[in-house]
Amino acid sequence: MTQPIQALNILGGSPLSTQPATAPSAETAQDDTVHEVVIVGSGPAGYTAAIYTARAEMKPIVIAGALDAGGALMTTTDVENFPGFPTGVQGPELMTNLQEQAERFGAEVIYDDAVQLELEGEIKTVTLDDGTVYRAKSLIITTGSEYRKLGVDGEEALSGKGVSWCATCDGFFFKDQEIVVVGGGDSAVEEATFLTRFGKSVTLVHRRDELRASKIMARRAEADPKLKFEWNSELVSINGANKVESVTLRDTVTGQERELETSAVFEAIGHLPRTALVRGKLELDAEGYIVCQGRSTLTSIPGVFAAGDVVDHTYRQAITAAGTGCQAALDAERWLADTAAAAHVEEALAAAASK
Ligand code: NAP
Repeated sequence: MTQPIQALNILGGSPLSTQPATAPSAETAQDDTVHEVVIVGSGPAGYTAAIYTARAEMKPIVIAGALDAGGALMTTTDVENFPGFPTGVQGPELMTNLQEQAERFGAEVIYDDAVQLELEGEIKTVTLDDGTVYRAKSLIITTGSEYRKLGVDGEEALSGKGVSWCATCDGFFFKDQEIVVVGGGDSAVEEATFLTRFGKSVTLVHRRDELRASKIMARRAEADPKLKFEWNSELVSINGANKVESVTLRDTVTGQERELETSAVFEAIGHLPRTALVRGKLELDAEGYIVCQGRSTLTSIPGVFAAGDVVDHTYRQAITAAGTGCQAALDAERWLADTAAAAHVEEALAAAASK
């Protein structure tokens, strides 16, 4: 199974832009410019932080990612709840708009993955997959989240052979076939509803007897004639030799197991924060999210700020991510101003003392 967005990137472009991906150059790799701010991540939090820091003339560098620039909304269809779009907006269009808005004010977007961060000391460094190193006085981490996996038998072996986490990427491959979606939140309902365009039937498997999804989306799904529901059902295994052929379900009330034929399993059971880059370097909470100080976006290290889904297990909306991206930009701007002022005072005191 191919994923259209990834395919675009493999060809060297970005899903958000027609520009070629930034080529690694010896000049960039040896550049020792110290930037005011580098933003790692390019979802709504990252691009909002970029818009604000760019307008504050901080010339932000946005490390957007090689394959997943734009974040989770790049694989979403209708976004109906982002304020300012009375008829809704497509996820990729929203992200393109945010990127263009940031670039308009001077943000520089780099299409590569950050592979290492050095956070201690006055100058932070971000090393990219191509070896380029960016130096900065402040960092804003907006690395978002990744799909949670079921961890059942057959999941890994059949990943890409019928097991998927992205309906917009892979739904088309299951035209006129039976499809299973696992989960009960907004993502599962959205994925299942979208998949009814392709599947002969779509069965939503949920471990409880009611959806967690927002009322409007749940009502719409329950009224959809192409959507069937398997309530109180846990998925125990995904079966098939070289492709998905069936799933084994367990009734959570009676414990009885049964097999359901299907060609595809789309998992939509939530997300985990993407904190691999900062694990052991920044304080994380018990669930692995970055801890911020009080109501600010300041992490456990001065000069390092975090925003979006990587800090938020409560709200997790595009608009709240954008809001905290704005906060992080303002926090970084103020922190840099305060640090510069403090350095100025120290210099003045040292000069006075030496007279
Ligand atoms: P979520 O709200 O956390 O829902 C996860 C679902 O997966 C829950 O129903 C949960 O079951 C189930 N689940 C978790 N672990 C499981 C496991 N091991 N086995 C079986 N089921 C499991 O996650 P989400 O749906 O991805 O939504 C995340 C956030 O994004 C939410 O705030 C949501 O409102 C937002 N969102 C909004 C939109 C939109 O407005 N268009 C679209 C997508 C997402 P339980 O219910 O039993 O806990």
